[in-house]
Amino acid sequence: MLRARMCRPEASSVVAADGYLGAFGGVMPGSLPGCETMDVMPTYRDEAVVLRTHKLGEADRIITLLSRTHGKIRAVARGVRRTSSKFGGRLEPFSHIDVQFANGRNLDIVTQVETLHAYDAPLRVDYAAFTAGEAMVETADRLVTEEGEPALQQYRLLVGALRTLGEGTPCGRRPATMILDSYLLRALSVAGYAPALTSCARCGLEGPHSGFSPEAGGMVCQACRPPRTALPSDEAWQLISALIAGDWPATAEVSEPARNEVSGLIAAFAAWHMERGLRSLPLVVR
Ligand SMILES: [Zn+2]
Repeated sequence: MLRARMCRPEASSVVAADGYLGAFGGVMPGSLPGCETMDVMPTYRDEAVVLRTHKLGEADRIITLLSRTHGKIRAVARGVRRTSSKFGGRLEPFSHIDVQFANGRNLDIVTQVETLHAYDAPLRVDYAAFTAGEAMVETADRLVTEEGEPALQQYRLLVGALRTLGEGTPCGRRPATMILDSYLLRALSVAGYAPALTSCARCGLEGPHSGFSPEAGGMVCQACRPPRTALPSDEAWQLISALIAGDWPATAEVSEPARNEVSGLIAAFAAWHMERGLRSLPLVVR
């Protein structure tokens, strides 16, 4: 089925629909298995992070990626579940790759993969970091809804957060949950769900106020407090501000209770603003 789609003769245009010139003007005849009739197929290249994969048929996978230029992409990687596959191992969640696609009628087809950064490697030996990474890629997948729409800020945030999980911040290591919390706040802000931190999220009354309500959207004044409003400590408020600004030096001395407090608030805030909640958030090791 997919094979037939790949071989459509009208795919001989050199310029793909997205305006990208194929890196080599197309794929050479027979360079994709089972596709002898095709002469030129438009291709394009991008850098991307693998968000998730799932099985297709006997040996293939559908790969969901967040790319620098093309936003979210779902593509077929053929034969990657065979041990002989030359790039199966490079298409794992968290991998940061340079990838070439050929245009398909429904889904594009992965034709080349080079690893840029194996962000997955440190996560495989650190379960807390792994669960935080899972929540990150799921968040990116949920916040970037449209395929093919550029989402450069989300892409940069995700690459930065995965790198920080494995390599630490510019001023040293931080707990995986703290890196996740910073990522969640910033990714939600880019998506239009920045928490109110200086005035009441409901009535706009200038703060500071002491209440934080995930469902109201952040800081709330005394008059507006909905049920289940939290009253974060001063240290927790400061940590939230530092995390949303990416101010890592300011997070160095934060106490564990304040970290846990903030983690719980941000998980609730993120879950509320992503409709059904994130499947992987309750599984994060805190
Ligand atoms: Zn208010």
